Amino acid sequence: MENDCLFCKIIKGEIPSHKIYEDESTYAFLDIHPINRGHTLVVPKEHHENIYDTPSEVFQSVMKTVHLLASKIKQAIGSEGINIGINNERAAGQLVFHLHAHIIPRWSDDGHMHWHGNPYQTGEIETIKDIITQEFK
Ligand code: AMP
Ligand code: ZN
Repeated sequence: MENDCLFCKIIKGEIPSHKIYEDESTYAFLDIHPINRGHTLVVPKEHHENIYDTPSEVFQSVMKTVHLLASKIKQAIGSEGINIGINNERAAGQLVFHLHAHIIPRWSDDGHMHWHGNPYQTGEIETIKDIITQEFK
């Protein structure tokens, strides 16, 4: 637990939240500023800033809860789809530095954009594959 962490305070009940689900290692609550109705955040009860410093078993417990809640939320809200996302670091849009997964109900006409892909230059995809796979050697 970190004293100045918003989500630690929510888990401890020091700041109110609209809890959807809780188990021994995770806590899920409605996002206060939803992209769509039913937008939910799933957090580990242990404080970890982002994916890099979250132990694998803790991350897996978050994913287990995400998997459980995705179909429940879709069913309850009646959405046509669900986005799952985790922002890591400021450059990727992280604003609260306690790991959290977003479960976002989606509709084909909800007006939100999908990410646009950009093509690789010739030979670039092989180079990128080599750079990343070097990390495993
Ligand atoms: P991120 O940009 O991935 O760090 O997302 C942080 C999310 O936390 C945003 O979607 C906020 O709307 C949400 N948020 C911030 N404060 C609260 C709060 N008190 N209760 C619920 N959600 C919150
Ligand atoms: Zn925290």
